Amino acid sequence: MSDFKASVIRYLERHGYSGIRLKAVLFDMDGVLFNSMPYHADAWNKVMARYGLHLSREEAFLHEGRTGSSTINIVYRRQFGKDADPELVKTIYDEKSAEFAKNPEPERMPGAWELLQKLKAEGIIPVLVTGSGQHSLFDRLQHCFPGMFQRDRMVTAFDVKYGKPHPEPYLMGLEKAGVQPWEAIVVENAPIGVQAGCAAGIFTVAVNTGPLDGQVLLDAGADVLLPSMQALCDGWEALKACFGSVGSLPR
Ligand code: MG
Repeated sequence: MSDFKASVIRYLERHGYSGIRLKAVLFDMDGVLFNSMPYHADAWNKVMARYGLHLSREEAFLHEGRTGSSTINIVYRRQFGKDADPELVKTIYDEKSAEFAKNPEPERMPGAWELLQKLKAEGIIPVLVTGSGQHSLFDRLQHCFPGMFQRDRMVTAFDVKYGKPHPEPYLMGLEKAGVQPWEAIVVENAPIGVQAGCAAGIFTVAVNTGPLDGQVLLDAGADVLLPSMQALCDGWEALKACFGSVGSLPR
């Protein structure tokens, strides 16, 4: 945990900020709040194969966080040298969503609920920033994390134009929380999500909850790499202590 401080100092120097005054935590959803990524990877693999498209489960983890259409088009372009017809994109994405929905309700990621309780007690605002476009998303959040998230503090696939790895979703998350980049942190598990958080100028914690080599997350720009949400929850006080102890704060 001792290199939290070095990570914070590197982040502050890179951005010319003099401290992190934590007011909000911007959470990705799949693979961070819910242990849902294995279901997503399986659904992608299965439905893409139906259309002759090759996307392995492992590669699905690499693309996690992209909008459905951009994932489909990356694979389609690789095989056919052009974008897929928008109707085909919609068909594949609808089938993928239906395949995902056949699974039992994904479980909360161990440590996520405990971490949210700590934030609530500290008056820190949790914000959801996901590339997911499920209509029942808020209800599921309310069911699994009662009283933690507010509907007007969510960024989903319906809100964004570009999606991750573009900084847009996280910039929108800052706006919805009414905070500046140095007043928030991002918690992500996917390389593309980490890129988005960093591009938005926000201190980005990667939790490696899937099968990827952690180096992929560091290469994407993660300021801190942890093996699980439980590790973030357990190390929360140590991490937070580093935010408040570095110099004076902006303005
Ligand atoms: Mg994720």
